[in-house]
Amino acid sequence: MRVVELIRTKRDGGTLDADDIRAFIAAYSRDEVPDYQVAALLMAVYFRGLDPGELGAWTDAMLRSGDVLDLSHIPGAKVDKHSTGGVGDKISLPLAPIVAACGLSVPMVSGRGLGHTGGTLDKLESIPGFRTDLAVDRFVAQVADIGVSLIGQTAEITPADKRLYALRDVTGTVPSIPLIASSIMSKKLAEGIDALVLDVKVGTGAFMTTEADARVLAETMVAVGERMGKRVVALLTDMNQPLGQAVGNALEVRESIDVLRGGGPDDIRELTLSLARTMLELGGADPDDAARAVDDGRALAKFREIVAAQGGDVAAIDDPDQLPTAAHVEPFLAERGGYIAAIDARLVGVAAGCLGAGRATKEDVIDPGVGLMVHARLGDAIDAGQSLLDLHHNGRGVDEARELLKTAYTIGDTPAKAGPLVIGRVG
Ligand code: URA
Repeated sequence: MRVVELIRTKRDGGTLDADDIRAFIAAYSRDEVPDYQVAALLMAVYFRGLDPGELGAWTDAMLRSGDVLDLSHIPGAKVDKHSTGGVGDKISLPLAPIVAACGLSVPMVSGRGLGHTGGTLDKLESIPGFRTDLAVDRFVAQVADIGVSLIGQTAEITPADKRLYALRDVTGTVPSIPLIASSIMSKKLAEGIDALVLDVKVGTGAFMTTEADARVLAETMVAVGERMGKRVVALLTDMNQPLGQAVGNALEVRESIDVLRGGGPDDIRELTLSLARTMLELGGADPDDAARAVDDGRALAKFREIVAAQGGDVAAIDDPDQLPTAAHVEPFLAERGGYIAAIDARLVGVAAGCLGAGRATKEDVIDPGVGLMVHARLGDAIDAGQSLLDLHHNGRGVDEARELLKTAYTIGDTPAKAGPLVIGRVG
């Protein structure tokens, strides 16, 4: 395999040979291909795409660049969920315990927040003591023991993706549907799961801003999973406003506990139960059990078990006032009356990040107590001077956040109607 031939073939719109793709990814993982050649191939893929056969070989090679977990000794179906990322998206926190409480195993390898989106790991780590850096054998043992564990990506899982993603980030080749699909699917399939539910977000706070693009990404990922013998379903879901009220780590943990106690914002409960029902369906369990597990307290009890097993302080779950908080809470007021016509959810996420809830670079340190509590949603009637949201802050980034929020909200004279939360299903 000569890498320059691969680059030429793809540049000219040809089809790469599956064995050459495998050899290329394996060689890159061993550091035997220089970044400039890989960057050139990524750009050729960005413009020319990958056909289903090429994409299958590419994903398979990424998957095999590291360890593939073997959970076959754990009885029953192993099912996970992956979200393409949004603002206020804390769904994994109530979802994983609900599905585990219904008897399926949920081995969940999650990510951190970067840019405007939050990350499940940062949210969980706002629970005092909670560890997300468990070694793989402890992760597997916990899934066998209590049916669920949530950890971060380890160096052993898909190392090729780690290198390729870093290179894509600096070569303008992240927004390529085959490259996104192979990156996400290789990581998820390495968890040793039987089935996967994808939450593909669409809207102002999502990677994909149009339904058409989101649908192509969803169809591509479902097809990759099915080629590999997994059951995969994608839900296309709305991200034209933050999910729930809380945007920020400990604030989102509180909201997740509210949902597990049977309350919480309607949209969080609806999306959590829609995804839980789909996971239960794919795992051969009763979808109606999801709501029952919340109502009868099994899901909250499972969340306490997860927190205890991963070193977290269970007292903070029983009394969320013990979670980290910000020193100051200040309202952000509407400059005029009218109706909420549009929300740029991405800017809301960036504003929360300015306060310290997220990272602009990998090195930034998260402040777990800060964030936003959103009061006004799309279509709401509001008066001039009414609080659209509260800023929970410790003095960092407040002016910058306020400037962003001014452009994040569009107030109009006629009521705008929010679309459905679950827009469609693929698979
Ligand atoms: N998330 C991933 O894991 N990979 C991508 O390429 C994009 C989003």
